[in-house]
Amino acid sequence: MKADIHPRYEDIEATCSCGATIKTRSTLCAPIHLDVCASCHPFYTGKQKIVDAGGRIDRFKQRFGVVSSKK
Ligand SMILES: [Zn+2]
Repeated sequence: MKADIHPRYEDIEATCSCGATIKTRSTLCAPIHLDVCASCHPFYTGKQKIVDAGGRIDRFKQRFGVVSSKK
């Protein structure tokens, strides 16, 4: 590599909201936090998981409710 033209590129640790940590490398040079990773993403687990940090689904249900079967 040529000297003094490259950004710093260091080993960092990415922490997922499920608790898993992944070692990676980045020019960010600081630990990062992930919402979803390969060990908890529904694509890999095969289970449905709702990522709803802001309570948006609850607010939607409050506003629009469940469609009633009453006539
Ligand atoms: Zn995860």
